[in-house]
Amino acid sequence: MAALVKRFSRLGGFASLLQKQCAAATVPVRCLNLQEYQSKKLLDDYKVAVQRFGVADTTDQAVEVAKQLAPVREYVIKAQILAGGRGKGTFSNGVKGGVKFTTVPDEVGSLVKDMLGFKLVTKQTPPGGVLVQKVMVAESVDISRETYFAILMDRETNGPVIIASTEGGMDIEEVAEKTPDRIYKQPVDIHDGLSAAVARQLAQNLKFEGDKLDQATLQIMNMYQLFLSVDATQVEINPFAETSDGRVICVDAKINFDDNAEFRQKEIFALDDCSETDPREVQAHKHNLNYIGMDGNIGCLVNGAGLAMATMDIVKLHGGEPANFLDCGGGVTEGQVFEAFKILTSDPQVKAVLVNIFGGIVNCATIANGITAAARGIDLKIPLIVRLEGTNVDEAKRILKESGLPIIPADGMGEAAKHAVNSIQ
Ligand code: GDP
Ligand code: MG
Repeated sequence: MAALVKRFSRLGGFASLLQKQCAAATVPVRCLNLQEYQSKKLLDDYKVAVQRFGVADTTDQAVEVAKQLAPVREYVIKAQILAGGRGKGTFSNGVKGGVKFTTVPDEVGSLVKDMLGFKLVTKQTPPGGVLVQKVMVAESVDISRETYFAILMDRETNGPVIIASTEGGMDIEEVAEKTPDRIYKQPVDIHDGLSAAVARQLAQNLKFEGDKLDQATLQIMNMYQLFLSVDATQVEINPFAETSDGRVICVDAKINFDDNAEFRQKEIFALDDCSETDPREVQAHKHNLNYIGMDGNIGCLVNGAGLAMATMDIVKLHGGEPANFLDCGGGVTEGQVFEAFKILTSDPQVKAVLVNIFGGIVNCATIANGITAAARGIDLKIPLIVRLEGTNVDEAKRILKESGLPIIPADGMGEAAKHAVNSIQ
């Protein structure tokens, strides 16, 4: 159960801290996450200051970007992965630091060579790290002070909340733990919006002064506008920095989006290259199925998150471990069941398939037909255990029985789980 909840709340930064607290008790949260360069492009569109940059997926391209940016005092090269903490990360080739600086244009190529194609491990990545497929090459700014600024959708206040701290650049979770008094939390009434006065007060709390106070105020207002317009669940800038030449600038950016807004944010969702998403999850999404990968060897086809969690518990109770969950939702079709089987069985880790479906809205006979068609169509070689309950279940059982396929039927979840575990021992 905890693993399922954890799997659903893959957000970084302070937002994750807030949302994780809620995730255990409420509905799972999944949000589209964009790369830094994509987030910065959006910030730029909304007149929020970012440094000049280009993106590259080969060393040659990176060198070309550096040439286009020239002349610059210093370059910063940043591995583009969805996790934070890159600066302090380590690559699979042993090279330290996913954020590198050089004043020598000719060095850009060799720095990029050590990043592309290697995995970067940071505090926020899985232990094996994340493959770096793109780098940002930017004009480095001379930072004189780093602050933290974020806007996120908060369940507690039922609306946007702004988190600001003078302790930027570092791990905000650590700041929240050790010096909570240095974090300002400002809820915003979504109907009233963010007033210029409140934005200015926030900028003052962040200790911006003089012209920089005006710049920070305006950028905070613009970020709020962006947050609303793109249906973001999080806009996190760390560091929100001031420079020695008197500018206020977003040096790092992480924007997440509300998946429920996909229908009206088509352009943004089209930016998702899925490069860091499990391909099975991508495939499932295409067919309106939800895929959640786990570490065990029993592939589970279920309908509904509640039944997924119950299935997980009962499989574990009988000594098994789920390999994944494929949730086919309430109104599942035969075609979806077929696709679901394809995804489940394409995974070499899956040694048995357990179907646990309750026919409420859905007719069990539909599922049974989907199962038999899939078992034949993909020439299923591993044990298949089926527990169906609910609407038209007798007809469903007849279909399964008369199919002549080696399906192991089960009455009740306990029996199904037991059969699944025994079938692979
Ligand atoms: P993160 O480690 O994934 O959070 O990546 P960041 O983009 O936040 O970079 C890490 C740190 O590198 C920042 O907190 C800054 O201190 C530093 N840094 C990043 N970009 C620049 C830059 O353009 N100029 C300077 N001086 N420092 C930078
Ligand atoms: Mg950062």
